[in-house]
Amino acid sequence: EYCPGGYHPLTFGEWLHQGRYFCTRKLGWGQFSTVWLAWDNLEKRFVALKVIKSAQQYADVARDEMRLLVEVRRHHSQEGIIGADRVVQMLDSFTLTGPNGNHQCMVFDVLGVTLLKLIAESDYKGIPLTHVRQVIRQVLEGLHYLHAVCGVIHCDIKPENILLATTQDQVRRLAAEAFDLVESGRSLPASFTCSCSLALRRRRSLCFWDKVRYSILGPEDVGLPAHLKDDNDMRRQLLVAADPLGPSSVVIADLGNACYIDNHFSDEIQTRQYRCYEVLIGGEYGPSADIWSVACVAYELATGRFLFSAQANEHGSVTENHLAAIDALLGPVPKHIALSGHLSRRIYMHDGQLRPDLKQASTSIEKLLMKESGMDATEAGKFSDFLKYLLDLDWKKRPSAYEALQHPWLKN
Ligand code: ATP
Ligand code: MG
Ligand code: MG
Repeated sequence: EYCPGGYHPLTFGEWLHQGRYFCTRKLGWGQFSTVWLAWDNLEKRFVALKVIKSAQQYADVARDEMRLLVEVRRHHSQEGIIGADRVVQMLDSFTLTGPNGNHQCMVFDVLGVTLLKLIAESDYKGIPLTHVRQVIRQVLEGLHYLHAVCGVIHCDIKPENILLATTQDQVRRLAAEAFDLVESGRSLPASFTCSCSLALRRRRSLCFWDKVRYSILGPEDVGLPAHLKDDNDMRRQLLVAADPLGPSSVVIADLGNACYIDNHFSDEIQTRQYRCYEVLIGGEYGPSADIWSVACVAYELATGRFLFSAQANEHGSVTENHLAAIDALLGPVPKHIALSGHLSRRIYMHDGQLRPDLKQASTSIEKLLMKESGMDATEAGKFSDFLKYLLDLDWKKRPSAYEALQHPWLKN
């Protein structure tokens, strides 16, 4: 995809934006962009550079994302605001011209691993409840900032989009690793640059890199593991200390699907498993759509399992079975809510009852927590109280992020 219209080929050692950013290595990539670890020579700190593919359709999506990020940044400096630091901030933006066209670039704080990674590392058994509480509190603070202060709905709250914050010290190790590789004269693994040969061709004398290295990393360079790891996952682990949730905090990232409370871009929002009731039935939605997703994330963090993971089968489509699972867990749904979406009549009969062929055996969140995750009855009772509070089927009555933060389970 490093072709006209696609990614921009960056390499170690390039200076961007009139010599402000020094590019070291790739941090990740997505459908729209590659993300690079760079040194900001003006602010004297490490940053993440998201370089968008050059084709028009990517540039258009990025422009919406940037507009929302500017809105989110605009309120950041207001004093005494809860949650502003729990949402990713765009620090700068510029356009870069290269062999594949013009690329928009966004500059962010460098973040660490995603919550999805933490869940995977728990072997899909879940992380301790004290950590779940800490993470969910911070996510709700971030959402309070987005909703109540910025007027923005995230629309894609899920473990993949919630990342651990990092310190500059942790990040420095990643940069030092890139310097070590270049200095050792070994070819750079693909995860460091898009084009190893380009980086090697541009290699300067060791003395030259020593100077740059010194000016960026300082005299107290960090010791590195003897064998340099090429593996993406291992590398990212450098960003988390032994106790990933002990000191650290989380940040809500990826505003690529967000919208304004008073200006929606789409009727169908959110990643399926985290999609709220009102969107599933094709109804109206508001900021409380994100609150539903928070409950799904909290359950998943605690148990390692999806709260809702419907499949299509002989009875119904994915959405029909998803709604049937919601009915079995949280129902019966009051008639005026069940029939309030333009897709309602596919699932519910005229009296608001679920289509009989879709019916599933009813259960409760408490039971799931005890049976599938071995939680004791008291703990399961308190946790499920909190989850049920967030999973109000009526999106207008569902608590705001601020109200959710007052729940006793979080005060614990
Ligand atoms: P998607 O296909 O998910 O929409 P995208 O092209 O919009 O992808 P992002 O999801 O923003 O790109 O970023 C791609 C990857 O780069 C992320 O999955 C993550 O691994 C990494 N990344 C993004 N932002 C940062 C950051 N601020 N700090 C560290 N790594 C990051
Ligand atoms: Mg993404
Ligand atoms: Mg995106």
